[in-house]
Parts: sequence; structure tokens; C-alpha cells
Amino acid sequence: MIISFDLDDTLIPGTKKFETEKQTILHRLLGLETIRFGTIDLFKELRNKGHRIYIYTTSFRSTTKIRLMFFFYGIPIDTAINQQRHDKRLGENRRRTSKFPPAFGIDVHIDDSPGVRIEGERFNFKTVIIDEHDTHWEQTILKGL
Ligand SMILES: [Mg+2]
Repeated sequence: MIISFDLDDTLIPGTKKFETEKQTILHRLLGLETIRFGTIDLFKELRNKGHRIYIYTTSFRSTTKIRLMFFFYGIPIDTAINQQRHDKRLGENRRRTSKFPPAFGIDVHIDDSPGVRIEGERFNFKTVIIDEHDTHWEQTILKGL
């Protein structure tokens, strides 16, 4: 299965706050962001189960920087999709939905936004929505696949 993850407020704290993984010296030197506590174990488990992991964000972070961030946590991702890649792939339809995972072959998308859940219902793609206070969020994802 191909599983994609949102970044802001899902894996990276912003307006929503949660505990994060320890940063390495390399992360600090390269100015990379911290990720939600539990992400490392979760990504490793998903890999062991044979899944592929994508990042799908509506931010304009560079795909290289996104890849590096996960690489230096020891959990390289398969693909990073940012707003530019979304716009390019969706073309005229780029504003119909904020995200459209099927355009990238994604089977299930993980996000914090109830709006994305509604888009999924309307445009027929599968989502798992994670609450910032969900301390068993990894389990919520594994059960929701
Ligand atoms: Mg988000």
C-alpha cells in the first residue's frame, strides 16, 4: 500500500502541539525540522509491513529538504509532494481539492484536518484523521489502514 502523510500539525507541530523526536546534531546543523514523537517507530513498522511512505503537504517546502529531514532520522521516504508538485499534476483541477492522493497513486492519506476528511468523502479517497491529543496516534493509523 502507498501511504501519504501531511506535515503541518500532523507530523510537524505548528498551531497544534505534541511531543517530538530527539533532534540529532546533523538536524540542528542543517536547520531541519523536528517530527512528532513516534514517527520513527511507525515508519519502520509500516516499512516492515511492506508499505511505501509518501509525504503530501500543501506547503512550499522544497522536496529535497523534506527528504533530508526524514533521511537524517533514519526513515527515508519514497516521495515528497509539495504544493508545486500538486499544482503541476492536477493542472486545471488543482483548486478543486486541497489534496488529491489518487493522482499520485496513494491508497490512504494521513492528515490532521477534518476538511481533508470531507474532501476524501466527496472525491472518493481514503483518509485517516489524527487528533493532536491522540497519544496512541500510531495505533489509530495502523488500525485505520
Ligand atoms: Mg495539516
